Amino acid sequence: MNALAPNMDHHWLPFTNNRLFKQEPQVFARAQGVRYWTPEGREILDGSSGLFCCAAGHGRPEIADVVHRQLMTLDYTPHFQRAAPVSFEFAQRLAALLPPGLDRLFFGNSGSEAVDSAVKICLAYHRARGQGQRSRFVSRNWAYHGVNIGGTSLAGMVNNRRDYSGVTFDTLHMRHTWSEEQRYTRGQPESGADKADDLEDLCRLHGGETIAAVFIEPVAGSIGTIVPPKGYLEKLRATCDKYGILLVFDEVITGFGRTGAAFAAQEFKVTPDLITMAKALTNGAIPMSAVAVHRDIQAAVIDAAKGDRPELFHGYTYSAHPVACAAGLAALDIYRDEGLFARGQAMSPKLLDLVFGLRNLPQVTDLRGYGMIAGIQLKPGANPGEKGSLVQRLLFDAGLHVKATGDALIFAPAFVVEEDELARMGEVLQKVLGRGDI
Ligand code: PMP
Repeated sequence: MNALAPNMDHHWLPFTNNRLFKQEPQVFARAQGVRYWTPEGREILDGSSGLFCCAAGHGRPEIADVVHRQLMTLDYTPHFQRAAPVSFEFAQRLAALLPPGLDRLFFGNSGSEAVDSAVKICLAYHRARGQGQRSRFVSRNWAYHGVNIGGTSLAGMVNNRRDYSGVTFDTLHMRHTWSEEQRYTRGQPESGADKADDLEDLCRLHGGETIAAVFIEPVAGSIGTIVPPKGYLEKLRATCDKYGILLVFDEVITGFGRTGAAFAAQEFKVTPDLITMAKALTNGAIPMSAVAVHRDIQAAVIDAAKGDRPELFHGYTYSAHPVACAAGLAALDIYRDEGLFARGQAMSPKLLDLVFGLRNLPQVTDLRGYGMIAGIQLKPGANPGEKGSLVQRLLFDAGLHVKATGDALIFAPAFVVEEDELARMGEVLQKVLGRGDI
């Protein structure tokens, strides 16, 4: 096999136009720190931490070493009344990082699995308390909660949902919070908390007692970074409490320091009942996800269980995989030992200066950002999404990886990024977004 010209017939690439890929392949062969290299050796700076997962940068030897050691000590453990010591240690370490009470961890392998697990846990909780009529879910327009059936049902991004009707469950959608007056807002918008009234309206219309849970990305990531307006999350929390509805924060992107605090729940000082997480959980090195569940929810489900049957008939062959737990522990050690969440927080003003400095470029129509994540809205092309893919391609050609979503870019480098690397990323963005001819 030729590494420079591999046979591309057999790998059906996810989230990819496979016909286009064969014409213009974009292949990463190596990564270190905030850099990728193509098979030809061309350097591409990583402006999106891979897909928002490699918060501590690529190629961390600390993670590689423990992964090797764990593989040689205990490479796999089954479930069904069996477990590995490393999973208890990892859960305990995560519990210490989470808001008080959210200290029961259920593991999966991807953000999508975490979301589906959270859906089932919410249903199990209500049924355990004799409230089996709560079978509806609420999410938002433009929401992304992964691609399994739970996430697809909750989805508010058109492409993630449209082709899958018939298998999705009953989800009510609130409006997203972006509005014209928020254009070019740095940090939390002052206006828009009233959009949380949509939840009150849905409760009145459908009966709050029929709703199991509300799923929210505290900062909507995959749509291109929508920061919650001041007071918005607080209002949602209050309405959930009023109607006995569980509040789930999907922190697959925002978890592990992306907004500043360990979790956005702490950053915005609103505590949900469950938190889903993945990506930076292992610094992206090994697939893994988790749902943090309030201890009272777990207790209710366990108390309602009869006999020796599992109280939650749910799990994956690779839930709490010992190698993933070991990688996660190593990632948490790095975050702690290098003070990386604080480093991200210190870097954030520089990142936002860079992003908001793009304001007057011909391709830019809006800018948003909080912590170490920012959205750059592009002047649309002839069809929705076309400009985003074109710009993503042009940035790649100019030496920068940034993920496009529709006609927006999500700029979210690793917290280890140095100022000169950030400046170099900014130059590439200036160059490409400054083009008037595209
Ligand atoms: N939820 C959110 C908020 C996400 O951003 C993502 C992935 N971008 C997911 C769920 C799904 O995660 P995964 O791709 O690991 O299944």
